[in-house]
Amino acid sequence: MHVYSHPACTRHDPGPGHAERPLRLVAVTEALREHFTALDWHEAPRASRGQLLRVHDDALLALVLDTPVDAPTALDPDTVLAPGSAEAALRAAGAGVAAVDAVMHGDTRRAFCAVRPPGHHATESAAMGFCLFNNIAVAAAHACDKHGLARVAVVDFDVHHGNGTQAIFDTDPRVMYLSSHQMPLYPDTGYANERGVGNIVNVPLPPGSGSEAFRKAWRDNLLPALESFRPQLLFVSAGFDAHKRDPLAQLELETDDYRWLTVELARIATRHAQGRIVSMLEGGYDLAALRECSVAHVAALLDSGG
Ligand SMILES: [Zn+2]
Repeated sequence: MHVYSHPACTRHDPGPGHAERPLRLVAVTEALREHFTALDWHEAPRASRGQLLRVHDDALLALVLDTPVDAPTALDPDTVLAPGSAEAALRAAGAGVAAVDAVMHGDTRRAFCAVRPPGHHATESAAMGFCLFNNIAVAAAHACDKHGLARVAVVDFDVHHGNGTQAIFDTDPRVMYLSSHQMPLYPDTGYANERGVGNIVNVPLPPGSGSEAFRKAWRDNLLPALESFRPQLLFVSAGFDAHKRDPLAQLELETDDYRWLTVELARIATRHAQGRIVSMLEGGYDLAALRECSVAHVAALLDSGG
């Protein structure tokens, strides 16, 4: 199984006290190196402008990549452009592109991208919610456009709704987007009646839902929809901020819930996608929970045939 990361991803620094801090990625990469010897580590390449332009407009590229930044600059109340941000954003998006190429060329069936900044809130034209470029959307568009896939799915179990990913693909029947998330919570999207062209499946969950309601949502609603779509490649927006230790939300999941869901996703990938899964780190703001959950997720990817 391939893991993509890059030291530049720790050099995007939104400033003191910001939840989306460089130590998050240090925690994830250290935990993976401590727990696994079978991982095949790769330096993430930079995404090209052409790859980014499949899902973003020129103005967002200019803002993130061409703005002279001497000191951290707030793009909105949550999202900061700092001196290391452009390089981190290019590597984070490039990780997903490289992971897609690797699974499509048959070099590996599974890939995990240990990157930041996260991506799923970034829309075609706006950086928001800690996200600069929408990494998973760049990767999914690459799978469709470069590799000619007709059906790919983005599964998003981050506690926040991936409004950016949904908006980028909600008129593109090649991409199914499926999300469980806490509601009410930022960014206040992801209602069950947001269906796109039949390719969007949202299951909002109230605060305090816990493991049972989370697993029921996936078992009864999201996994059957994913199964009937028959994705040729499965993407995972792997945010671990629904964990009970997370300070930003109250969905109260256990670490084992991430193992459970990953195994279920792997079964579907095995049936329809030749086992191909590209997973990318999104949120998760308690360092101990991040370590545990990323290890549980990667272990399940490996044990289930990665
Ligand atoms: Zn999140």
